[in-house]
Amino acid sequence: MIRPYETDFHIHPDFSIDAKGSIDEYCNAALAKGLRKICFTTHIDLDPRRNEDDPFMMVDGQMMRVTPKLVQRYYDEIASAMDIYKSNELQIYAGVEVDYFDGVEETWSKIKGNIKFDYILGSVHCIEGIAFTWSKHAPLCFEKFPLEVFFEKYYTAVAALAKCGLFDCVGHLDGYRRYGYGIFGESINNPPEALLKVALSEIRNSGIGIEINSAASRQNVGSTYPSRDILKLAAETEVPIVALGSDAHSPADLGAGLDISSSYLDEIGLRWKPKC
Ligand SMILES: [Zn+2]
Ligand SMILES: [Zn+2]
Repeated sequence: MIRPYETDFHIHPDFSIDAKGSIDEYCNAALAKGLRKICFTTHIDLDPRRNEDDPFMMVDGQMMRVTPKLVQRYYDEIASAMDIYKSNELQIYAGVEVDYFDGVEETWSKIKGNIKFDYILGSVHCIEGIAFTWSKHAPLCFEKFPLEVFFEKYYTAVAALAKCGLFDCVGHLDGYRRYGYGIFGESINNPPEALLKVALSEIRNSGIGIEINSAASRQNVGSTYPSRDILKLAAETEVPIVALGSDAHSPADLGAGLDISSSYLDEIGLRWKPKC
């Protein structure tokens, strides 16, 4: 039996413009760290309002605009790793982390062509095209939207993400804490419960779930995204945990914090329902 802490389903290889480490280097790191199941989830950011900053991939050391051909190349590289590492009892899955915006389904379906990814992680990184998960734009976003407006827009987008049918899982549910904490302090940790409940119910009703993302511990905002409080509310709302993820952007971070994320499953009484 593979245990949750032996699985990492949020990994950015160097196809992501902000990440280091080839698919092969990650696979070797996974073996060294005793992981049994991993899923690559490169960034796919296609919001047309962010055309200058986002829709790129690194291929052969060059930054290129995302095209169906490049996505195929990414998929093929993972597929060949699946073969190579089969004998090492490392199960490898092909996924993507797709940024959510209104209309993403159509744009993504043109880019992915006929590829069937194993796992589609959906994350809200932007409000009205301004990325609050990027150090450069986060201050602009938090300046433009007062906190209560921000929460309202964010959780409305999360509910729409769940409803749109494209995704298997919601990424880093309260990931706004990363840059929001320095600006708003503790208030960023307390989104209105009513908004959260609507979003969580929508996630449950759509038959998907959330991940427990351990990047929070490396970003000095607690142990996980979402926080323990939100995880408790997820358990009450019967939202399953679809994956644990380190959100590694380099092989050194692969698997980091999975032990803590995994301990929350039992401690909080969350339902573990992995997609793969
Ligand atoms: Zn993300
Ligand atoms: Zn990520």
